[in-house]
Amino acid sequence: MPPAVSERPTRIVVDLDHLAFNLRSIRAHVGVPVMGIVKANAYGHGLVPVALHLQAQGVEQLGVAFLEEGIALRQAGVTAPVLVMGGIFGRQVTQFISHDLEITVSSLDKLRLVEAAAQALGRKAVIHLKIDTGMERIGVHSYSARPFIEAAVASPWCVLKGIYSHLACSDDPFSPMSAQQLERFLEACAHIERIGAPMPIRHLANSGGVLHFPETWLDMVRPGIMLYGVQPDPASRHAVDLKPVMSLASRVVYFKVVKAGNPVSYGATWAPEHDTRVVTVPIGYGDGFPRALSSRGEVLIRGQRYPIVGRVCMDQFMVDIGQDSAFNEDEVVLVGSQGDNAISVEALAQRAGVIPYEILVGLNDRIPREYSLREYRGGP
Ligand SMILES: *Cc1c(COP(=O)(O)O)cnc(C)c1O
Repeated sequence: MPPAVSERPTRIVVDLDHLAFNLRSIRAHVGVPVMGIVKANAYGHGLVPVALHLQAQGVEQLGVAFLEEGIALRQAGVTAPVLVMGGIFGRQVTQFISHDLEITVSSLDKLRLVEAAAQALGRKAVIHLKIDTGMERIGVHSYSARPFIEAAVASPWCVLKGIYSHLACSDDPFSPMSAQQLERFLEACAHIERIGAPMPIRHLANSGGVLHFPETWLDMVRPGIMLYGVQPDPASRHAVDLKPVMSLASRVVYFKVVKAGNPVSYGATWAPEHDTRVVTVPIGYGDGFPRALSSRGEVLIRGQRYPIVGRVCMDQFMVDIGQDSAFNEDEVVLVGSQGDNAISVEALAQRAGVIPYEILVGLNDRIPREYSLREYRGGP
């Protein structure tokens, strides 16, 4: 059977050249190796194609959230080092090791589980120690990390490749929390030196750290959202030149005139004051397009900006185009640019009252992804 080609007019286009551009920008900015974070379907951009492209661009390491994401990378032929950043369960450890995935060890108990599984398998586990410096999520508290570090250093069945922590407030350039966390982290790392062991790779900075706190770059950085050309927060500094990777578009599927006073969509929450032209767009909250954009969002059609009116439905929503014209199959841009206008993920998130991360990862599998690549790749 030929591969199913989706005819759905609603689609995400992922610009792989912009992804490569962002990786280069980040690299040039920090001057240390990069762990590209591709968890949550590469922030909605497609786990495997994004990981393969980052690998082709020479990214030093990839990071995912849980075991299955790591296995999916290996099954797709990704050979770059992959760190699974989430907490582990004992029964999973064998799979980590057999798929050559690097393990986050976040407690002494978990270290023992990893050692036992590695020994049973007769193969060493590659581990990164997780130190909690203020996030209170997973990891050994920095103030009680010494026995943990000593045990990991002494472990015959673990290769201590990295040590890391996670910043809780790096989106905010003025938060004192990041400097505190850095200090606690470095204090924990200093113990490795004190006991005379070789220093593993120290990594701390997510996108906020890359943008706002050069001291946190250390031996490797872990950018996620900025790889995709999106700022973590409206307050973030545009310290690195980035290009948006994702665009999201659909097409007009229906056109009609709505008479003054006649309400549109569920709940009859909106009605025009005058007769107006309304088009229907075939995407909705069932695709991950936020229902919070009901009578709040905007789209681009024929280069113009128009409001979403009434409630966003599961698979469709309506747009008021006033007295302008639009035709069936006209392109509707939800994220991206058209003519002189553009809608960013950041702007859309702000209107929906959520963070940009939530918009990106919310766009689900119902929407086909297309990958565009213009740059000359070399070769014969
Ligand atoms: C998700 C995540 C990142 C990337 O965060 P961004 O804010 O998207 O850059 C880095 N490190 C850890 C541990 C994470 O969970």
